[in-house]
Order: sequence, then C-alpha cells, then structure tokens
Amino acid sequence: MKLPLIMLSALIVLSACSSSSTGRKQVMLFSDTELDKMGAASFDDMKKQTPISNDKATNDFVQCVANAVTKNVPQSVHKGDWEVVVFDSSQVNAFALPGGKIGVYTGILNVTENQDQLGAIIGHEVGHVIEHHSNERLSASKLQNMGMAAATAAVGMTDIENKGLWMAGLGIGLQYGVIMPYGRSHESEADIVGQDLMARSGFEPSASIKLWQNMASLSKDAPAEFMSTHPSNETRIKQLGQHLPISMKYYNENNKPQCIKPKKIPVPKA
Ligand SMILES: [Zn+2]
Repeated sequence: MKLPLIMLSALIVLSACSSSSTGRKQVMLFSDTELDKMGAASFDDMKKQTPISNDKATNDFVQCVANAVTKNVPQSVHKGDWEVVVFDSSQVNAFALPGGKIGVYTGILNVTENQDQLGAIIGHEVGHVIEHHSNERLSASKLQNMGMAAATAAVGMTDIENKGLWMAGLGIGLQYGVIMPYGRSHESEADIVGQDLMARSGFEPSASIKLWQNMASLSKDAPAEFMSTHPSNETRIKQLGQHLPISMKYYNENNKPQCIKPKKIPVPKA
C-alpha cells in the first residue's frame, strides 16, 4: 500500500500551494499559528542565550526605525505590536521572525551608516516574514524528510536535538551551527518587498544599495554572519537599482522619521 501515501503527499503539496506577492509559487505546509509559535519560542530562546543591550540611545535608535517600518506591515502578517530586541553582540547580524519579532545585533549597527540603512535591513528582514519564507523553508525540509525537525517543531519545542535545524529554517540557526542560507529567489523577493516597505516608511530607498555594497566589502575580509544567511552578489545590487524607480514612488521625504544614530554604539569585543 505504498501508492496511497504518495498520492497523499501529492495532495498535501497541491492543497498547500499559493503565490507570493511577486507571483512565485509557494508550498506551505504549516499554519500561520504554528509559525508564530515557532518564531516566539525561538525568540525567547535567543533572549536567554544572548546578552541584551541596555544602552538607551542604541535601543531608542533601533526601536524608532523598527516602529516606522512595522507600522506599514499589513495586519494580516502580524496583529499588534512587534517586539524589538537589541542584542549586545559583535555579530554582524539581524533577523525578523513570524509572530512579530525583530532582533538586531549591536555589531551590525556599526556597519549601518544611518537610519535609512537600518530601515533597509529591517525592511528586508520583515520582507522575508511578509512573504512566508520560513514556512517554505520548513516545508521543504519536511518534504525532503530531513525534517523530523520541522514536524516536531509544529508539535512543540521538546526536541532539543533538532532545534538547530528548524531554527535554521527560520533563518537563525547559526548559534546551533546550522546555517541555511536563503536562496536567491527568497533574497530577491525580500529585497524588492523590503525596498518598497522602507520607502513607504520614509527611508530613502537607495540606501539599500549602499548598505549591500558596504556589506559586500566588509565580507571580503571576514564573512559576516549576516552574509552567510543572506548571500549577496552583484545581481542583487543591480536588481535593487532596477527596482528603485518603483520604490521611489512610495517615498515621501516629508514623512521621514527622525531616528538618531548614536555617535557611539557600544559593542562587546568578542
Ligand atoms: Zn535575506
């Protein structure tokens, strides 16, 4: 009786198929509620593992930029406030999770030159959430059967062994030594959605190009954590430039937030 099982999987895939905002076909096996639960649980875990910055000026800056961006995220993506945490770590990294969670490491703040570039980072990360990329990644793992992890994730957080795998699906597995880089299609989609979102939020959209150029030159010396999950290339920078005339239509400089980057952002040494 092997056949019914195959048919069943095919049926699951067909019924779970939908489209992203750029028209890409997506297979998503998990519900929004399940993803929100995984996001929240992973975020709690991160908060236990990584020191949190208590520098007021740094927190105010990040909170100000994140608020401006999340105000423009549809309620269908997340209802209510987003939780924003600044992690006190030299890692060049940032992420957003389903369930309305945003994490920014102090290490990335010294790569971002101003509020517009931080708007680009947060816009991009939230873009991954808006387009349900974690759901696709976890669904792919599940379908490939490497994902007992993904299945246990839906049930609860009891399976510590596999935690790294499904945290990687959410885009944050690094601390468990599991890196699952976003694929090119997810990266371009988050770039486009993120550039529109930052523009709507009052951040100069061309700052996204400058940001990735800075990231690329930084990675020549030592690859940043951010770059290992968000691989960059010239295609990406070219595409951001091509999309600029569209996102500029959403940009109104009179709406510009006044988020002040502190002169000095304390970053731990190691
Ligand atoms: Zn990305």
